[in-house]
Order: sequence, then structure tokens, then C-alpha cells
Amino acid sequence: MKLAMIGFGQAGGKILDRFLEYDSTRGTGIIGHAVAVNTAKADLMGLDYVPNENRVLIGQSVVKGHGAGTEPELGERCAREDMEEIQTAIDTMTSSEIDAFLIMAGLGGGTGSGGAPILAEHLQRLYVEPVYGLGILPARDEGGIYNRNAARSFQEFAESVDNLLTFDNDAFKTGGESLGEGYAEINQEIVARFGALFSAGEVEAMGDDVAESVVDASEIINTLGDHGITSIGYASEEVESQSKGLLDRFRGNNDGDGLESSGDATNRITSLVRRATLGKLTLQCEVDSTERALLLVSGPPKALNRKGIDKARKWLEETTGCMEVRAGDYPLPNENRVAAIVVLSGVTDVPRVKEMQRMAIEAEENVEQLRAKSEEDLDDLIEYGDDEE
Ligand code: GDP
Repeated sequence: MKLAMIGFGQAGGKILDRFLEYDSTRGTGIIGHAVAVNTAKADLMGLDYVPNENRVLIGQSVVKGHGAGTEPELGERCAREDMEEIQTAIDTMTSSEIDAFLIMAGLGGGTGSGGAPILAEHLQRLYVEPVYGLGILPARDEGGIYNRNAARSFQEFAESVDNLLTFDNDAFKTGGESLGEGYAEINQEIVARFGALFSAGEVEAMGDDVAESVVDASEIINTLGDHGITSIGYASEEVESQSKGLLDRFRGNNDGDGLESSGDATNRITSLVRRATLGKLTLQCEVDSTERALLLVSGPPKALNRKGIDKARKWLEETTGCMEVRAGDYPLPNENRVAAIVVLSGVTDVPRVKEMQRMAIEAEENVEQLRAKSEEDLDDLIEYGDDEE
């Protein structure tokens, strides 16, 4: 699947940079066009892979290149004022080359949180291609303001895109190291999952091998539909190519190439799909609230087989209780890992979102109380002299 990717704000830009790196090192060909948009000049300058001419600094008359802090209203205003400049950078691509747009943003800050939904609305009006969002939720311990911003932006973003693919930083938080290193690791996790999903059907990545059952861009587009929230599950395993032992030969597993039997490949696929679905999702949710699902398995051609994928698809149908489950594989001849991606589209039972909304209400009340108290304190301070008289 070929995408026009737009990274909005700091997190969005950094993740776009990692996608470009992934695309160039693997030759996947999933990025048809890449644009980074920000109100902070320093963030744009810190990117490595986004072409200079596709880095758009917005809101200079408002924030003078210093960013929007944690104020989504500023991000929104800057996006509205400079939409034409963003459009010009997007226009340099020929839209016939892409299957969809993907706008990426951290929802807890200011620029991406406020600006990404506005850009999505704009692109929806202009293009026939679907517009997807990749929304990054803040970790719980980032505090009330970030969670309040994210709760608002999540709603606006979900309403303005065809599907909001969601990634929760909280679920992937790694302890100990600095914030920067932590984000670098999280960003690799993001790119591994979404990169593998979008690589499906891209011929450049597959080489000359033909998949058992090909998943192309239209299958992904049909799974994502034209509304809803999506969570992704992922699991991968290295394929060992051992030489055969005596026991294998005795059992008749003797195809002579040092690789495992097709039964092993089937079992690996089904167990990877279970791990992907029941393990850590990009957004923790009840899997039986899924509306549409897609299952993808990639890896060296010998490790893929139709039986494994059919079994895994049936299991996924039963587990999600949804009738619309698509499945397919794509061989990656130079890979030594088998990976399963499970796309849960249109999920509705998502406790993390409810919790974020509660945190947002608490933060709002807190802000109100603090404001009232500080007004009172200020009155007391000023009136002190009056009391003395
Ligand atoms: P903006 O530049 O004003 O849009 O704000 P940021 O993108 O800096 O921050 C918004 C939120 O994104 C933060 O609250 C974090 O949760 C998250 N964030 C910031 N940087 C990264 C990053 O590199 N990776 C990930 N996954 N999340 C990030």
C-alpha cells in the first residue's frame, strides 16, 4: 500500500522520519510522499530523512517558530492560517500514485493535537483517496493536561478521518532510560507494526515470490472502512534453519533442505496469530468488540502456508465474533522472521479511552478550581491594604 504520510508536530515528524528510514533500508516502497508540518523550527531542523523542501513551518506570525507548547488551540489556529502552505507541499505529489493519506500526530501536545484533525478535514474535502490518522496517546503519568488534550483531539481526529489507527504510549512505556531513548524504542515498535501492515501487497518488498493469498491495498482499505478506531496486534519469531537430526529422519521429515515440516509452519502461524491478538495491542481493547479484522503473515516463503493462515483466520473469526475477517500472506525472501499482524478495526470497547476522558474531566475541574482559588488569593492580597484601613 502506498501512502502520502504527513507528520504533524514533534512526535508526528519523528515517527515519519523513522518510517522513511524503514522504507529506504527495506525497499518496501510504502511512502509515495512525505511532509512534516510543525510550529517549532528546531523540531523540523532535527529531522534526518524528510526532504528539506517538504518541511513546512506554520504559524510563524503567531508563535514565531517556537512551537505551540501544550495548547491545541494554538496548533489549530496555526494550521488554519497556513493551510495553503501545507497544501503546496502536499501538492508536489501526483495523487494517482498513492492509495491513501496517513496523518501522524501525538495527541497530548499542542501542534499535532490541534492541527492534525484540521488537516484531515481539509484533505477529505480535496481528495478522493481515504484519509487515515495515526494518533499517539500520551502515557498516563504525563499528567492531566496531556490527557485532556488527547481526549479532545482523539474525538475530533476520529470524526475527521476515515479511520483512526491508535497507538498508546502508555502500553509501550519502557522504564529507566531517558525520555528520548524511551521514545526512540517506542517509535521502532510503531514502525515495526504499521510498516509491516502497509508493506502488504507492495511488489518491491516481495521480490519474485508470489504469495499464497495476496492482500493488496484494497483489502486494507476495506478493512479500515470509512469510520472507526483501529488497534493492531503484532508478534514475530525468528525462523531457525537447523540441520536435521536422526529423530527427524526416523519420523520421515526428510525433505532434505534442513528446514522444518509444513506442520511446524502451520503451528507457528497459528500460535503467532494468537500471540498477536491476545498480547499487547497498540490500543488495549476488548477484541470481541471488533467490527472488521485483517490478518497478515509475512516471512520467508518456506515458513508460510495456506493451511496455517486458514486455521488462524477461523480462530480469529471465533475470537472476535466478527464475520468480516480478511487474511493473507506476503513472502519476504530476505527475512529470517515470520511476523503476524492482526488489524482490529472498528473496536468500540476501549477502557483506555474512557479512562482518558475521565482524566480530562478531572484536569478540567482542577484547572477551574485553581483559577478560582488564585483569583480569590489575588483579591485577598490586593484587598489586604483596604482591610487595614
Ligand atoms: P506537538 O509538537 O506540540 O504536537 O507535541 P509533541 O508531539 O511533542 O507531544 C505530544 C505527545 O506526543 C506527548 O505528550 C507524548 O505523549 C508524545 N510524544 C512526543 N514525542 C514522541 C515520540 O518521539 N514518540 C512517541 N511515540 N510519542 C511522542
